[in-house]
Amino acid sequence: MIIKNISILSFKDMAIHKNMDLLINDGRIEKITENSESDRPVSFQPGEFIIDGTGKYIIPGLVNAHAHTAMTLLRGVAEDVTESDWFNKHVWIYEQSLIPDDVYTGTLIGAAEMLLSGVTAVADHYFAMDRAFDAYMKSGMRANLAWVVFGIGPDSEKQFETAMDFTRKYKGKNSRISISLGPHSPYICPEDFLSRVVLESDKLRLPMHIHVSETKAQVVQSLKNTGLTPVQVLDRTGVLREGTILAHAYWATDEDLKLIKKRGAGIAHCAKTNMKFGDINDLLPRALKAGIKVAFGSDGLASNNTVNIFETARDAALLAKCSTHNPKTGLISDILPLLNGGDVIGFKNCGEIKESSLADLVIIDPSTPNMMPGNNIFADILYSLNNRNVDTVIVDGKMVVENGKLLTINVEDLQDEAMAISKRLVATVSDKPMQSY
Ligand SMILES: [Zn+2]
Repeated sequence: MIIKNISILSFKDMAIHKNMDLLINDGRIEKITENSESDRPVSFQPGEFIIDGTGKYIIPGLVNAHAHTAMTLLRGVAEDVTESDWFNKHVWIYEQSLIPDDVYTGTLIGAAEMLLSGVTAVADHYFAMDRAFDAYMKSGMRANLAWVVFGIGPDSEKQFETAMDFTRKYKGKNSRISISLGPHSPYICPEDFLSRVVLESDKLRLPMHIHVSETKAQVVQSLKNTGLTPVQVLDRTGVLREGTILAHAYWATDEDLKLIKKRGAGIAHCAKTNMKFGDINDLLPRALKAGIKVAFGSDGLASNNTVNIFETARDAALLAKCSTHNPKTGLISDILPLLNGGDVIGFKNCGEIKESSLADLVIIDPSTPNMMPGNNIFADILYSLNNRNVDTVIVDGKMVVENGKLLTINVEDLQDEAMAISKRLVATVSDKPMQSY
């Protein structure tokens, strides 16, 4: 595949490289050269596909560092409620009726939404991940899958074994899909269980993906119960280490951030989830100041309502400004590099457009009114872009979105099925909490 005469955007140094040609081969960017006048550059082979990039921009594919993708099926079912009611009276009750085929359909919908909005890689933290694997295979997306385990409850041992069976069986099965271990959180998982997961992580040489310090109440409770913050509990049990994805870490203290930096874990910042609960914090500016690897996460659709990472980045920029009362935080040059946080979820070499990088790429067509006249392409991407500007998406060197149309999934086929599943899931309503954390 050859992309001709396109402008490459570099978020690292906010640079624009105009009139460039890219040769993509075997899932990687093989060569980048200045645009050749000839339609048939030296490297062109008969039958090779040429994309005309005239007037368009190319960026690395976006990364969603924390998602519960199959929760597309619960989009919009728990609105305008407190976080406690959201968990205990809605989402956890609905999820009891979830079956593996639902996870397949829900993940397929989420993957379709992500690809159409330029997200090429996701770290998915959920259940029935064998079915999520099938959905990601079909979609063409890159994914890191963690089967969530709790370590408490009557079936906990059985659930742990099921998750571990999946982990062992699917590890290394496909180069596009990697596997992590998914302990839910330090507020659900007992410490000895977390230590057990760490042992498995060592044995299988796999990273971990876990929620931590999502709310202030969790931090207060943890200090009361253990004398440690949730991040410190993760450190004591060995979970806090290089490669671990910390989902949220929203109420991490400055001391916690120093510890996270020291251990080399990354944070998936899910700004919109917390904003919807009216929870304002300046985590992002503090984490960046501490030098921590940060990427954006959508979290589940029952809280975020979308898996669109351009939108999450926009929310994060605004949250940074509002939480600090300072317009000079959440700068465009701070925010845009975080769109491509593949290193946070274990995918190296995909956050930059350079020779030998993975060919996970998004072509942006700015020729719509919402991006005119084009004074500042970086500001336009952060604050003005919508899905119509996502023209082409390439994952692993293969085109999955062409002229704004998804090539791998027939989205129209999914609508009736999604509605039927969703109706079944939300039929169980209760005013009594199933459990409280
Ligand atoms: Zn989450």
